[in-house]
Amino acid sequence: MKITNQLGLPKQLVELVNSNYKPTQHQYSCTTILKPTRQIILERRYGEQIEQDVSDMCWMIFGIAVHSVIENSQEDEGQFKEEKLKVDLGKYWEELEGYYLSGRSDMIDLIKKMIVDWKTCSAWKVIYKDFEDWRKEMLIYAWAVKDIGFEINKAEAIAFIKDHNKTKSKTDSQYPKLPIWVEKFKFNDNSFKEIEKFIYDKFMELKKYENATDKELPICTDEERWREPTKYAVKKKANIKASKLHDTLEEAEKHLENLENKEECKGLYEIEVREGTDKRCLEYCSCCNFCPYYIKNYMEKSD
Ligand code: SF4
Repeated sequence: MKITNQLGLPKQLVELVNSNYKPTQHQYSCTTILKPTRQIILERRYGEQIEQDVSDMCWMIFGIAVHSVIENSQEDEGQFKEEKLKVDLGKYWEELEGYYLSGRSDMIDLIKKMIVDWKTCSAWKVIYKDFEDWRKEMLIYAWAVKDIGFEINKAEAIAFIKDHNKTKSKTDSQYPKLPIWVEKFKFNDNSFKEIEKFIYDKFMELKKYENATDKELPICTDEERWREPTKYAVKKKANIKASKLHDTLEEAEKHLENLENKEECKGLYEIEVREGTDKRCLEYCSCCNFCPYYIKNYMEKSD
């Protein structure tokens, strides 16, 4: 990745984020395999051409700082921090000979049979209890830790809420009270079976597409693109706010027709198409400029 420095920030910050990370062939990390296959492959393929500005990486800098504090802290009995993990998948599945799952666990607590991960998140994540990605990621880590012979049956994500608002925390009962949130997960045999299947399927897909052309890569699903679907707003012509949002054009047309049949509403209403967007493509995919889907839907359309 090329790191730019638009604000001329101190070189120490640039050096901090400039890890010169080079991916290892056939090796993917616990965090990486949660991304869509197309994104994983494109990020590797175009890694050296992808640009990011250091000023836009402040939460990454924060994460590095937190990990550095942990690394220099003293563990309790039975605790291991920043343990490097590398699972030889050929041991489990012949067809994945030469493929490896890698990772670094923030903390393994052998006495509590637990792994701990430090995270950052938005207040919305906590309000909506949107923790499935954390559960899955920590389950993958737990599976990798089991591979080195340790028993793990739970996990704790300790998250710093980046946009925590003290005033809201006092007035809104749904809002997290404190800027740190601890989410706990329990794992059993079924959880490990589920994640083993996920790891196998994901690596088989990566193996299948590693050498495919950009266009041949499987298109990220709506869910993977964090797609917000197109809506059809029936609204008063002079207003911005919709009277009602519909999922289909047919529903919206029916609504408009009903309004047109009322004398007092005749000619006052219209349908506005609110195009759906792909949140991940637009905001969270560093290889978007190299992705045919993004180029077609967001670059060519705006020309
Ligand atoms: S831009 Fe969108 S479709 Fe393309 S790889 Fe990224 S997330 Fe997937």
